Amino acid sequence: MDCLFCSILEGKIPSAKVYEDPFVYAFRDINPQAPVHVLVIPKTHLASLDEVTAENAEAVSHVLAAIPRIAAAEGLEKGYRVITNVGEHGCQSVRHLHFHILGGKQLSETMD
Ligand code: 5GP
Ligand code: ZN
Repeated sequence: MDCLFCSILEGKIPSAKVYEDPFVYAFRDINPQAPVHVLVIPKTHLASLDEVTAENAEAVSHVLAAIPRIAAAEGLEKGYRVITNVGEHGCQSVRHLHFHILGGKQLSETMD
């Protein structure tokens, strides 16, 4: 399977690691949209939130549990935004489930 983020997990493509545990990997977005822009991914391949089920949701729960720890380590005590894009209308460009953490400035009130 040809997946960019699986290649990053395998170390075939370099990335700026922010956090790692047995289930989760986080790294800096190559094209940051805010002073802090981190991507948080499960180590198991799921294409998007659309593939999450009760059976595999544990992989996602580890990701969600890591997010506030990463945000705190990045100094985002004033707040941040978490986004996961799904499919064409969601403008998902990489088909490996990922959560964007955006912060480090006052973000806009609009989300579209
Ligand atoms: P999406 O549009 O799928 O929600 O987000 C994909 C994100 O991955 C984009 O913000 C894009 O900048 C980032 N990205 C794409 N290729 C790479 C890469 O090779 N390395 C890193 N660190 N980020 C990437
Ligand atoms: Zn993948």
